[in-house]
Parts: sequence; structure tokens; C-alpha cells
Amino acid sequence: MNLTRFPVNPFVELTYILWTGDGGDAIVVDPGMMAAAERDEVVQFLDSHRLTLRHILLTHLHIDHVASAAWMAQRYNLPIEGGQADEALGALLPKQAEHFRIGIELNPLKLDRYLSQGDTLTLGDEEIRVLEVPGHSPGSLAYYVPTSNFVLSGDTLFSGSIGRTDLPGGDFGILVKAINDKLMTLPADTMVYPGHNRETTIGDELRYNPFIN
Ligand SMILES: [Zn+2]
Repeated sequence: MNLTRFPVNPFVELTYILWTGDGGDAIVVDPGMMAAAERDEVVQFLDSHRLTLRHILLTHLHIDHVASAAWMAQRYNLPIEGGQADEALGALLPKQAEHFRIGIELNPLKLDRYLSQGDTLTLGDEEIRVLEVPGHSPGSLAYYVPTSNFVLSGDTLFSGSIGRTDLPGGDFGILVKAINDKLMTLPADTMVYPGHNRETTIGDELRYNPFIN
């Protein structure tokens, strides 16, 4: 499975496209584009590789991860999929825009399909497993692709750090436990692609991350 990252918006959130190859299928994870030029870049990428978008997945419903979710859903006629426990954050999306002085108008965001622990999706012939990793937000999800050996961790686990827990619904103890239970139990050579900053591996985080046991 191919993975392509687009750093977008003032938060430098990483929008991911997972894709099988030219003319194949694709999934977008966390379409956080806020500028028209950022949306164009993602659409042009999909077009230039002749990709059929199959899913719009969210790791969580903070504004920097979802700013273009509704726009993508309309354009590609797809449901928006994510963790039910984050719906309260989705309802507050206009407030999030105000709070962070984003300068764009957004409607409350509703999920069309709930994903939870143990759910699986497919892209090409590969399985994507849904992991619930609450604590940064109540409904935070990670997406694990065993065959290609990587996990999209959203804002739960970062290289040398973990997600902030001071935003509404955040909880430090819950986050650390969820990371230990759900992510640190993956094979050590699993690549970790977070929602911000550089990639890492589970093994490196087990050794060097000061927040992990
Ligand atoms: Zn976040």
C-alpha cells in the first residue's frame, strides 16, 4: 500500500492518502485542508493517479484534522467515518474555528458511520484495523495496516511525545493507558505515522518516549 502525506493548514496537520497504485483505490485520512490551494493539491493528486476514493476516515474531530471532511464527503459522495465518542467535538466545530481564530466558516460535523475497536476496512487486498485510542479526545482512533506494517496514530502517539490532553474531553491517564494497550503492543518495527511531525516506530517509542513505561 502506498502512503502519501500532505502537510496542511496553520497547524501543519498531516493529511494522508493511502492508495493501491495508479488507477486503483484510495482512502483519505484526516482531510484537514483549510485553503483552496490545499484542497486542489489533494484533488489533483487523486486525479493524476486516477484513484477512486473509497473512504474518508477521521482519527478524531479536532478542526485541524477535519476542516475539509464535509467538503470531501460532498465532492466524492462518501460517508464520513470516525469514532462516535468524538461527535460532541464535531458539533462544536464552529466553536473550534472561533477558538483557534481559523477565519473560515464551518458547519457542525456529523459522522455518517461509526468505527470502533476491531472493525476492519479493506483497501485493495490489504486490511486496515480500527484501534480505539482515547485520551487526546474521547473518540480518537488509530488505523493499523498489518501487511504494510504501519499505523496512523492521529494525535495519540508522536515521535518522543504524546497528544495534548488539556483540550475538552482529554485525559492524560486514559491516553497513556490506551497507547500502552493498543499501540505499544504492535510489532516493534511498525512504522508510526502521526497527525503532526515526523514518523517513528513502535520500537523507538518503547525505548525513547518519556511518556511510555
Ligand atoms: Zn487533535
